[in-house]
Amino acid sequence: MLLMKDILDEKDNRLREKSKEVKFPLTDEDKKTVDDMIEFLTNSQIDELATKYDLRPGMGLAAVQLGILKRFFVVVHEYDEGKFDNYVIFNPKLVSNSEEIIYVGEGEGCLSVNREVCGIVPRYARCTVEGYDVDGNKIRIRAREELAVAFQHELDHLDGILFTDKIDKKNPFKGKDIYREI
Ligand code: ZN
Repeated sequence: MLLMKDILDEKDNRLREKSKEVKFPLTDEDKKTVDDMIEFLTNSQIDELATKYDLRPGMGLAAVQLGILKRFFVVVHEYDEGKFDNYVIFNPKLVSNSEEIIYVGEGEGCLSVNREVCGIVPRYARCTVEGYDVDGNKIRIRAREELAVAFQHELDHLDGILFTDKIDKKNPFKGKDIYREI
C-alpha cells in the first residue's frame, strides 16, 4: 500500500521531467500502480483512514509523483458525501477548453508540495480530455469546476510543471478580479 513517503517531494528533479507515452497492453506493474493510486487517494479523502495511515488528503496523483515517468494519472473525485468516482487516464490530451477561467479560492494543493502556497492558479472552468483506459480503449471525458482543475493539474505533472509555477511571482493574486473563484 502506498504511503506519503512513496510520493516524491517537489525538490526531486524527476518531477521536472517530461513523462513518456504509455504502450499497451499495460504491464502488471502498471496495473498494480493504478490500483495503489486509487486506494491511496480514496483513503486520503476518508478522515478515519487518512488519520490511520497518516495521509494528506488529495484527489489526484500522476505516475511521475511515484517516480514513474509514464503519461498517466488518477483522480478520485468525491462527487457526493462519501461517494467517489475514479478517473484513470493514459496518454491524456486536453482537446478542448472553455474560455472562462477559474481558480480554487483556498489555493491549489499537491501531494508533492509539502508547504502552504498562496496565490491564484488560473485554470479553464471546463475542459475535455481524451486518452485511454487501462485496457487501451479510447476515452473522452468532459470535466467542469473542481474536476476540470484536477485534470489540468495532473496534465501539467506529465510535462514537469507544478501548480506553484503558475502563480505570478510578483503578484500572486493577479487576476483575482477577472477570474471566477470556486
Ligand atoms: Zn500535484
